[in-house]
Amino acid sequence: MSKRDFYEILGVNRDASDDELKKAYRKLAMKYHPDRNPDNPKAEEHFKEAKEAYEILSDANKRAAYDQFGHAGVDPNAAPGGGFGAGGFGGGGFADAFGDIFGDIFGGGGRGRTNVYRGADLRYNLEITLEEAARGAETKIRVPTMDECEACHGTGAQPGTEPTTCPTCGGHGQVRMQQGFFSIQQTCPKCHGSGKIIANPCNSCGGAGRVKNHKTLSVKIPAGVDEGDRIRLSGEGEAGINGGPPGDLYVMIHLKPHNVFKRDHNDLHCEMPISFSTAALGGEIEIPTLDGTARLKIPAETQSGKIFRLRSKGIKGVRSQQPGDLMCHVYVETPVNLTERQKELLRELEDINQLDSARHNPQAKSWMDKVKNFFGQ
Ligand SMILES: [Zn+2]
Ligand SMILES: [Zn+2]
Repeated sequence: MSKRDFYEILGVNRDASDDELKKAYRKLAMKYHPDRNPDNPKAEEHFKEAKEAYEILSDANKRAAYDQFGHAGVDPNAAPGGGFGAGGFGGGGFADAFGDIFGDIFGGGGRGRTNVYRGADLRYNLEITLEEAARGAETKIRVPTMDECEACHGTGAQPGTEPTTCPTCGGHGQVRMQQGFFSIQQTCPKCHGSGKIIANPCNSCGGAGRVKNHKTLSVKIPAGVDEGDRIRLSGEGEAGINGGPPGDLYVMIHLKPHNVFKRDHNDLHCEMPISFSTAALGGEIEIPTLDGTARLKIPAETQSGKIFRLRSKGIKGVRSQQPGDLMCHVYVETPVNLTERQKELLRELEDINQLDSARHNPQAKSWMDKVKNFFGQ
C-alpha cells in the first residue's frame, strides 16, 4: 500500500516550523477525532494518518530521516541498521507533545490519555417474505451484544476497587522501544494500551469491562425494501470502550424466494400457463397479484412467451413515487393424458391446418424455408 506524504497529510510546506506543524495537526485531530465522528468510519483513518505524520515530523531526528529517505527512513517495520547513520532517533518525546495537545483539546490536564473507542458496528441478516417487503412490517430480532458490565460500570475493576495507572507506560498506553537505530512507539505490553492495571478484576466480567448479552430489538421494515437494503439502528451496536459511544446495528434485508413471483427492483414477474385453446381463441384468465387476483385478457392467437404488463401491480419502492409493474409471462401448455376422442380431434385439426400451413402455421413454414436455404435446396 502506498503511503501519502506526511507533509501533504498535514497540509503544510516542507519547511514548516514546529508551531505550524502543531497547529495543522491540532486542526486535523479536532476534525477527525473518532469521538466527534461516530458515523464516519473514514474519520478514524484520517485521524491515525495525521497522528502518524505528526509523530514523525514533530521529532527533529525522525523528520530529518524522513526528509532524506522518505517513508523507508522512518518505517518501524523496515530492517534496522539500514545505514541511516548513527545517533538513534530517541529523545524529543512524541508522547509529551501528543499528551500536550490532547490536554488542550479534552482538558485532560496531564492525566494521561486513556484510549476511548467507539463500539463496533454489528450486522444482522434478516430474511423476510416478499409480502412483508412490499407492505412493510414490524418484527423483533434477538441480537448478541457486548454490553458494559453493570457490576463495574465498564472499568473492569472489582466494585470498591479502582484500576491503577500502568507503571510501565505511565498511563499513556504506549511505550518507546529501542530497536536497532530506531526508537519506535509500541502498545504497552503490560496494559495492552489501556494505560491502566486492574489488580482486582471484576467477578462479573473477568476484568473485560464488558459482558456478553442478548437483546431483543424491534425493527420497523419500511414498505418497499429490497434485497441488500440495510436498516440502521443507531447506537444498538456494541458498547464503546472506556466510555466511548456505542456502534450501530445494521439490519441487512434478504428476501425469501417466493412461490409465484420473482422480483426485479420494483417489478414483479410471474409465469402463467394457458391452454392451447385459450391461446388460439383468446379468453380471460385470472392471475395472482400481491393483493389478490386480477383478470387478464388473452387476445386470440397469443404465442408462447408473450409478456403481459399489468401497470402498477408491482411493488412501490422505498424511494419511488410509483409502484412497479407485474409482468405476466404466458406459455402454452401442451395438453397431456389425451383420450382417443381428443387425439382424434387434434389429428383432424392438424389435417385441416396442413391444407394451408403457410396461413395457419406461418412460423413453421418460414422456419422450413430457412432450413431449405441452408442446405441449398
Ligand atoms: Zn465488570
Ligand atoms: Zn501500560
